[in-house]
Amino acid sequence: MKVLEIKNLTKKFGDFIAVDNMSLSIEDGEIFGFLGANGAGKSTTINIISGLLRANQGTVEILGKNSKFAKMNIGMVPQDLAIYEDLTAYENVRFFAGLYGLRGSELNERANEALQFVGLEDKHKEYPKNFSGGMKRRLNIACAIAHRPKLIIMDEPTVGIDPHSRNYILNSVRKLNEMGCTIIYTSHYMEEVEYLCERI
Ligand code: ADP
Ligand code: MG
Repeated sequence: MKVLEIKNLTKKFGDFIAVDNMSLSIEDGEIFGFLGANGAGKSTTINIISGLLRANQGTVEILGKNSKFAKMNIGMVPQDLAIYEDLTAYENVRFFAGLYGLRGSELNERANEALQFVGLEDKHKEYPKNFSGGMKRRLNIACAIAHRPKLIIMDEPTVGIDPHSRNYILNSVRKLNEMGCTIIYTSHYMEEVEYLCERI
């Protein structure tokens, strides 16, 4: 089964071609390494997959569909942190999982589970403004996985963080994959991609 199928994707900013006729398909269960130098067009591609940007040409299908409901199957860890500094760690995860439609006790359970998964269960009542860069990254991941997405897209999740958090993140990518998630992992650290990915 194809989790993601991109056909002939082109994105221009004015006259500048950021993504040039790109095609890519990703199978269920893969950890796909998405590599490219700075400015190669990785984040632009990811923003199109997740619906933040519109392509000039081409199609994107998630689990065989091209609809906003298909996007509920995506967990997105953006390159720039997307967490609220004035909400606690637990409130952040609940907020994002709530956007995906989780409610009530299921929402609470999944939020706790996600915080536990990234090793922040002891910090659930704390505010991310007091967190290290690595802890913020891990919280960002918890926010992306609480709704149990089929496809997780991570855009350079280990840039500028401490080795402990880095190892934690790399191991959690493997664990998520073992739990059945398909993963797009963007990085320009070759050794990370070599460690994690079957296909690049
Ligand atoms: P990567 O994530 O691979 O480093 P990006 O997708 O962020 O690269 O950017 C690809 C290219 O498109 C870069 O040259 C960047 O400057 C340009 N670009 C990205 N977003 C915009 C935008 N909103 N307006 C104009 N140019 C952009
Ligand atoms: Mg980028």
